[in-house]
Amino acid sequence: MGIIDLRSDTVTQPTQEMREAMAGAEVGDDVYGDDPTMNRLEALAARVMGKEAALFVTSGTQGNQLGIMTHTQRGDEIIAGVQSHIVHYEAGAAARLSQVGYALVDNGDQLLYSNDVRRLVRPREIHFPRTSLLCLENALCNGTVVPLKTMKDAAETAWELGLKVHLDGARIFNAALSLGVEPGELAACADSVMFCVSKGLCAPVGSLLCGTGEFIERARQNRKVLGGGLRQAGILGAAGIIAIEKMSKRLGEDHENAKYLGKKLAEIPGIKVSEEKIQINMVFWETSIPGFNSADFVSFLAKKNIKTSEDRGGFYRMVTHNGVSRPDIDFTVSAVREYVAGL
Ligand SMILES: *Cc1c(COP(=O)(O)O)cnc(C)c1O
Repeated sequence: MGIIDLRSDTVTQPTQEMREAMAGAEVGDDVYGDDPTMNRLEALAARVMGKEAALFVTSGTQGNQLGIMTHTQRGDEIIAGVQSHIVHYEAGAAARLSQVGYALVDNGDQLLYSNDVRRLVRPREIHFPRTSLLCLENALCNGTVVPLKTMKDAAETAWELGLKVHLDGARIFNAALSLGVEPGELAACADSVMFCVSKGLCAPVGSLLCGTGEFIERARQNRKVLGGGLRQAGILGAAGIIAIEKMSKRLGEDHENAKYLGKKLAEIPGIKVSEEKIQINMVFWETSIPGFNSADFVSFLAKKNIKTSEDRGGFYRMVTHNGVSRPDIDFTVSAVREYVAGL
C-alpha cells in the first residue's frame, strides 16, 4: 500500500496525462513571449477568471506579492485579514518587497466586511499613509468559504473609496464549487486574482495572476524584478492547462471525501469534528482524550504509512485530494481508532 498523505493538497502528484503533456509540450523562450504552451495557459486562465490577461508565476506567494507590488507604491497601506496567507504565511514579503504597511482586520470569523474597509481606509491627509489596496481571500487558508455577497460588498466599498482589490484565490475552484458559482463570479469581486494550479489541481508547479492587460504588462516586468522570468516554461504550462481544464472538474470528489472523513472521525468517542466547517477539502478536529499526544499520534500513523500534521492551536487538520481515496480514508479512520483504543 502506498503512502496516504493528509498534510495538504500541495502534495498531489502530476497525473500520468500531465507527465505526457509535459514531455511533449511545444515550448519557446517565454521571456520573448515565444512559448506557445505558456501563451495558451495564460489565455485559458484569463478566460476562466473573466479577466483580460494572465501571468504564470512560480508560486502563490509570488503571485500575491506581484499583485501587491503592481497595485501599490512604497509607503502605502494595504487592508488584509490578520490570519490571511498574505499577512501570516508569506514571511512579511509585502513589507520587504513592496514596502507597504498593513491595516489588519481581526474578526472572530476571519471574514473581511465592507464596514472593515470603511473603518480602516485612511483619510487623504498629509499625516496618513495612502490606503491603496484591499486584499481578499477565498477560500481562506483555514478552509472557510466566504459568501459571494460578503466579498462583493467589501469590494464595492473599496472601489467606491478609490482602492484596488486583489483576491488571493489559491483555492478559488474549491471555493466556487462550494458556493455553486463560477470562479469568474468570485474573480469579478477583484481587479486582480491569483490562483494555484499546484494544489488540489495536481500541477507540479505554478500559479496564475490575472487582471487587465495593462496590469499584467506591469506585473510581467515586476516578475522580472523578482527573478521570475522563465524560459521554456511551457513544460510547466502543459500541466497547468490540464489542471484547469480537467482536474478542476473532479474537486467535488475531494469535498465529498472530506465530509465522509469528518463524519467517520466524529463517530470515534472523544473526537470532536467541526463538521459545519467542512466546506472544501479540509477537515478540522480536536480531542480532549487524556493521554492523546500530538507527536505520538503523528508517529503512530506514520508507521502505518499515513502522513498527517501535528495539531495547530489545538486543531488537527486533514486534507483530501486526488491521492486520497475512500479506502484510504477508511484505513485512516481505523488507524485513528486504534491509536485512541491503545491510550
Ligand atoms: C497555498 C496558498 C497560497 C500560496 O502558497 P505557495 O506555497 O506560495 O504556492 C496563497 N494563499 C493561500 C490562501 C494559500 O492557501
